[in-house]
Amino acid sequence: MTSTDHARNPARTAVVTGGGKGMGEAIARRLARDGFAVAIVDLDGDAAEHVAAQINSAGYRALALGGVDVSVREQVNAAMQRVRDELGPILVLVNNAGITGFQRFVDITDEQWDRIIKVNLNSAFYCTQAVVGDMTEAGWGRIVNISSSSAQTGSEYMTHYASSKGAMIAMTKCLALELGPSGITVNTIPPGSIMTPMMRASADRGHLGDVEALAARLPVRRIGEPEDIAGACSYLCSDDAGYVTGQIIGVNGGRVT
Ligand code: NAP
Repeated sequence: MTSTDHARNPARTAVVTGGGKGMGEAIARRLARDGFAVAIVDLDGDAAEHVAAQINSAGYRALALGGVDVSVREQVNAAMQRVRDELGPILVLVNNAGITGFQRFVDITDEQWDRIIKVNLNSAFYCTQAVVGDMTEAGWGRIVNISSSSAQTGSEYMTHYASSKGAMIAMTKCLALELGPSGITVNTIPPGSIMTPMMRASADRGHLGDVEALAARLPVRRIGEPEDIAGACSYLCSDDAGYVTGQIIGVNGGRVT
């Protein structure tokens, strides 16, 4: 779609949390190419501005909302209101922002547990509550929750992280039932190992072992790219996916079958 097409057909608005880097960035770029006006909500303001500027200079539409902590309800509500004011009703939400952690179960502190749950799970609760009214009013909506294959298989030293992502999968199924009658689909993508700043940092700290060996054990013999997730997300946000809801769409190179 060209920028002229955008002018003729006002774009549906999509919000991507954590859209300044990694898979959120790839999702934001892809949804912009798909014709959505994309709001990039991220803690990292420079990253959000950079991605939005590139999308805009390519002739698509993006808005950066930096310095927003999606684990704080007031910040979420204010950010979503700004998106609504500048881009219109929010009809697509990708709950992608997240943080990881590696800790023996017995060593996980209350602070670490609470932080992971707040950023990975409460954020999806706050963001979804903030936008679901727009989708209900439009009779059309798409919610995609980026969870994790660690919640499907279990993952040692990641009990807090995998628990937050498992709850996100349960949230997806509940909301699919509740929101389906309003024309809103809710699905989750649990990624396998995807090469992003998060994965690079985990590898650099030695949490992932030998990354080449990890890739060699996967059926597709490679680590995933952010665009692998963006492609699945693009489909789930499309009109074509209107009969797909409550689903776990694994994008993991065959790690979980
Ligand atoms: P990433 O490279 O760390 O990028 C995440 C982005 O989200 C960063 O810009 C980060 O900002 C931002 N962010 C973090 N906490 C935030 C908050 N409270 N409010 C707003 N923005 C926040 O991560 P990624 O690897 O792309 O991961 C994206 C999602 O996929 C996460 O939910 C992650 O758990 C999940 N996932 C990743 C993998 C993988 O292999 N990479 C596998 C399974 C699931 P800062 O950098 O400033 O913190």
